[in-house]
Formats: sequence, C-alpha cells, structure tokens
Amino acid sequence: MVVKSWVESANGHPDFPIENLPFGVFRRGGEPRIGMAIGDEILDLAGCYASDLVEEWACTRPSLNELMSRGRDAASRLRKRVAGILIDGSADRERAAKHLVAQRDADMLLPCTIGDYTDFYASVHHATNVGSMFRPDNPLLPNYKYVPIGYHGRASSIVISGSSFRRPTGQTRDDAEQPPTFQPSKRLDYEMEVGAFVGHGNELGSTIEMHDAEESIFGLCLVNDWSARDIQAWEYQPLGPFLAKNFATTISPWLVTLDALEPFRVPPFTRPEGDPAPLPYLKFDDDRGIDLVLEVAIASSKMREQNIEPLRLSRGNFRDMYWTLAQLVTHHTSNGCNLRPGDLIASGTVSGAAKESRGSMLERAWRGTEPVQLPTGESRTFLEDGDEIIMRGWCEREGATRIGFGECRGIVRPAQWE
Ligand code: CA
Repeated sequence: MVVKSWVESANGHPDFPIENLPFGVFRRGGEPRIGMAIGDEILDLAGCYASDLVEEWACTRPSLNELMSRGRDAASRLRKRVAGILIDGSADRERAAKHLVAQRDADMLLPCTIGDYTDFYASVHHATNVGSMFRPDNPLLPNYKYVPIGYHGRASSIVISGSSFRRPTGQTRDDAEQPPTFQPSKRLDYEMEVGAFVGHGNELGSTIEMHDAEESIFGLCLVNDWSARDIQAWEYQPLGPFLAKNFATTISPWLVTLDALEPFRVPPFTRPEGDPAPLPYLKFDDDRGIDLVLEVAIASSKMREQNIEPLRLSRGNFRDMYWTLAQLVTHHTSNGCNLRPGDLIASGTVSGAAKESRGSMLERAWRGTEPVQLPTGESRTFLEDGDEIIMRGWCEREGATRIGFGECRGIVRPAQWE
C-alpha cells in the first residue's frame, strides 16, 4: 500500500518518502536544529515541539545526542508521531506546514557530537581483495572468520557531506631499498562504508548481547573512509591504521532508522561451506542483514567543468557483509567496553564478489594495474586533486516504497591550499 503525504515532493521521492523519515541536524541561519527529511523539505522538530505537535523535549537540543540517549523506543515513538503529522489528510497539516524548511535553503551539520569512532573490516570480499594484493599466498588472516576485525578511528576529523578536505601529507616509502620521504600522498583512496550511530549504549563493564544489539542502534548513514594507501602501507604494522585514515572521514547527514529499514531486512550473509560458525556470543537465530544498494561515482574537476555526469565506479550491497551490525555491536562490547550515545561504528569497505561491486579505488583499479577511464579521456588509479566522490545508498523491493540515504559527497583539495 502506498502511503501519501501532504508534502507533495515526498510522494515518489527516491530517498525521502513518508516511509523513511530520517533524523538530521540542520541550520538555516541561527542555531542548529533537529529535523526530519520529508521529500525536498525538512520538518523542523524543534519548531514542532514549540507548537505542541510533538512531546519529545530532546527535539529542542542542537544535536541528536540527547534523543539518542533515550533509546530506540523514544526515537520510534517520535518517528511514528511525525508520520501521523505528515500523512495525507492529517489534522495537524496547517500547524506543521510552517515548520517545513526547504532542504536547498538549509546547511546540514554533523548529527551529533561523536565521542568515539570505530571502523570495522566486515566484508570478506574486501579483506580478501586487499589481502591478496599485499599477501598473495595468504590473503585472509586466520582470525578473520572468528573475530570481527576493527580499529579505533578518530572522531575529530569526521566531516559532513559536501565538505572538502586537504590531501594528506605523510611518510611514505616508494623504494624498499631507500628511507621514507615526507610528501603529499600519491595514493589517495575512498572507501564505501555504512555507519551505525549508537543510541543508548551500555555501561562500562557491561556487554550488549546479540538479541539486544539492534536496540542500541539509533540510525544508519553512509561513510567515506578516505584512505592514503601509501601512508598506510608504511605505517600499518604492527598497530594498524593511524595517519593514513584520520585526516578526514565524510558521512551523509541523514540517519535512517532501523524501523524504516524493516521492509528491507534479509537473512544474513551465508557463510561458505567449510567456514567456522560464529562463536556462541556472536550467534543469534534472528540476526539479519540489510538489502541496501551502495553506489560510488566520481566527477573530476574537468568533468564538472564540462558538465559531464559523474561516472559510476561501483555498485555493491550491504547484504554481502560477512558480519552483521548486531555482531559488530556485540563484539565491540564483549570485553566490557562501553558505547555511548553518538558513537559511530562503521562497517568497513562494502565490497561484493563481483568486480563491479568493489567499494574502493584500490580494488577497483587493482592496485593501479587496471586504471579507470573517465569520459574526459583522463584515467585514474587513485584520486587526483579536484576529484569528487559521490556515494549513494537506497533500498527497494517489490511491494515496498523505495527509501534512500541521500548523498555522501567530498572533494579532494590539494595538499597546499590553492
Ligand atoms: Ca575503512
């Protein structure tokens, strides 16, 4: 059944029909405000609170942390209430209409204060691809199928879609016989990932069990984990990624709830014959994946100058991940580590088995050996200054209304500002 909204642009909108209603933080002059995307508009929830349309006081805060801390039920109740306000024929239409802000008139901000950021490595295809480039004889390390591999990233350099960033400078070693040099990265890459923002979290010393894990997720977004492969190759052993990753991470602004994603849930990834079963603490009979299409496109500055459409680099699906979000959350807290409202957990690069579904340039151009041809005659093995990477994600299936995540965009600026 198609549900209509009195916000006309929502009906048939590829990302934000009334079935989605993702949370975000925006500014139109003045202070940051919490809102929900509906069609081409934003419903200002702080305004709705002032007009007694919604009861949730956390809507008046300048970030989502307070609402996140109330747990998934509070956000679910609020989202249901807003659906009632926005549905065609609602008695609240007149009072709510004045709280609509056109998305083109608003700046999107980070949705919350992000205390901690963890990045996983949950795609076995990505892990195998990258592993086979660096360790042809031993692509997948023996722990991979038992333990969701991750590292602690840096929250301070997470930026919102539309931000540009400077190409990082760092230590790299081109010649294994020579000492390293300090120079702008020559192997700058993107990684297409999905992020999960933590809702209520857990106390230090406690754990989140698998059956409860999704209750602690507030919403999902798209993540571009920009990566300097040359810096990474020189620094990553023995303690993992550091300056190769923490110069910038871009996220999409709208947090899509698991409630909105419910029609698109699918069985988790089927482990191939012979793979070990997850250890008992990572096992849950009702664990599920998400059928979420993820697309990456590139536009060089030359392409933008010539008004050439961005070129699609890959199309993958989040259902192909070896580890589910619930497993990532449970594993993260299994030692008593506390997750806090507003923490960000990223999935790791989403790559599938097919070549077209590889979610990084490293894999797409196979470590520089299969350059990507752009419509301008340019080619890419890694990213050049001025390149824009555009990520999109959406869910669709017969019998359900398509919903989307909007865009996650970022432009690479030169190491020295022009
Ligand atoms: Ca990553």
